[in-house]
Amino acid sequence: LFAGPVDFVKGVVAMSGMPPADRLEVCFAGRSNVGKSSLINALTNRKNVARASNTPGRTQEINYFALGTQRYLVDLPGYGYAAAPLPVVAKWQALLKSYLSGRQTLRRAFVLIDGRHGVKDVDHEIMTLLDRSAVTFQAVMTKADKISKVELDQNIDQTRAALAKHPAAFPELIVTSSEKGLGIETLRATIATLI
Ligand code: GDP
Repeated sequence: LFAGPVDFVKGVVAMSGMPPADRLEVCFAGRSNVGKSSLINALTNRKNVARASNTPGRTQEINYFALGTQRYLVDLPGYGYAAAPLPVVAKWQALLKSYLSGRQTLRRAFVLIDGRHGVKDVDHEIMTLLDRSAVTFQAVMTKADKISKVELDQNIDQTRAALAKHPAAFPELIVTSSEKGLGIETLRATIATLI
């Protein structure tokens, strides 16, 4: 699945701009700076696949990447970025809501949780939106290399407890470090079973 080409398809700003729902997809969500671009790059073995998502003007878009010719990987806009003006936040929240509740070909959302911080309020908000949209989601801890094992384990426990409150949560979480390549193969294998 990840051996073939990964091409940027388009940045979507409105539901009318969605690519046709003609193939399965998974999406990635997470707070700004959680390490989402780094993770997508590590997954796809490429340096700059997700760069498009982090360029100014692209950050509020739902970015579609084609995995080969038959699957999509979807990069959702980073949330919780304090500097974003309220109307901008409201607009992408509406788009996100429409996407999550309306996309028939979406198989699972991966919600990235910073290994250093655990689940924050904004993460709960996105998880609640996923619950309401009946989209199964799985937590992926990022930057596992950045803190001590003891602290990481505490944050894993905190995350598990948080997931237990969300009916749409898949119980297993995946611990990753894009920097060290930890958990990347597990995440690839998980995605391969879904799409
Ligand atoms: P995004 O805003 O969620 O796309 O986050 P980025 O992928 O741009 O990462 C934010 C910052 O965290 C960058 O400085 C990355 O180099 C760093 N980072 C991301 N993943 C890791 C990781 O696994 N380990 C370490 N040590 N740093 C990481």
